[in-house]
Amino acid sequence: MEVKKVVSNILESNTFVLSENGKAVIVDCGAELKDVITAVGENKVIAILLTHEHYDHLFYVNEYIKHFNCAVYGSEETINFVKNPVWEDDGTLPRLNEFKVEYNSNFNVLNDMQVLNIENFSIKIIYCSGHSLGASCYIVNGAMFTGDVLFSTGIGRYDMIKNGKELTKKTLEKLQNVEDYNIVYCGHGEDSNIDKQKRNIRLFKAILNKN
Ligand SMILES: [Zn+2]
Repeated sequence: MEVKKVVSNILESNTFVLSENGKAVIVDCGAELKDVITAVGENKVIAILLTHEHYDHLFYVNEYIKHFNCAVYGSEETINFVKNPVWEDDGTLPRLNEFKVEYNSNFNVLNDMQVLNIENFSIKIIYCSGHSLGASCYIVNGAMFTGDVLFSTGIGRYDMIKNGKELTKKTLEKLQNVEDYNIVYCGHGEDSNIDKQKRNIRLFKAILNKN
């Protein structure tokens, strides 16, 4: 599987284009459509996966659906949000009142730990609440896509939802036992791998349990 990273102009979130045998899967929708079209090339897009319900990962979802005409998948909370987006203005995110999803018939909920097999892609979703309610990681053909749950040298903010810290502790506990991946692609910044992330998870579990 080939993985191309497209960095968005919105908070430099990463959108990924995964391709195999002429088919492509897109992870997140923060990058401009024209850049994603270039990354997709001749491949046919068969699915879009959403890691969570923050606008820097979702902003162009309408444009992607319109152009690629494919199904969109996410956790229950993320899909519910996308169908009816309400941005809580806590002062940390710019207001985006114009954000509106128009084509919601293509949205599909994946249940926690569900595996979706389409074409040559095996896609497993892992619910990882904490950074947002619907935050999820995906393992696609042995590569993990973490959204804002794990970064190459840290973890995502957990102060943006109620009980975010407690939920993040549970998520780290859960991810500690996940083994079926190798390379890690994060929602912002550099890529990582399972060894680095196991250390990262242990470290932040200890930090969160201390205070
Ligand atoms: Zn986020």
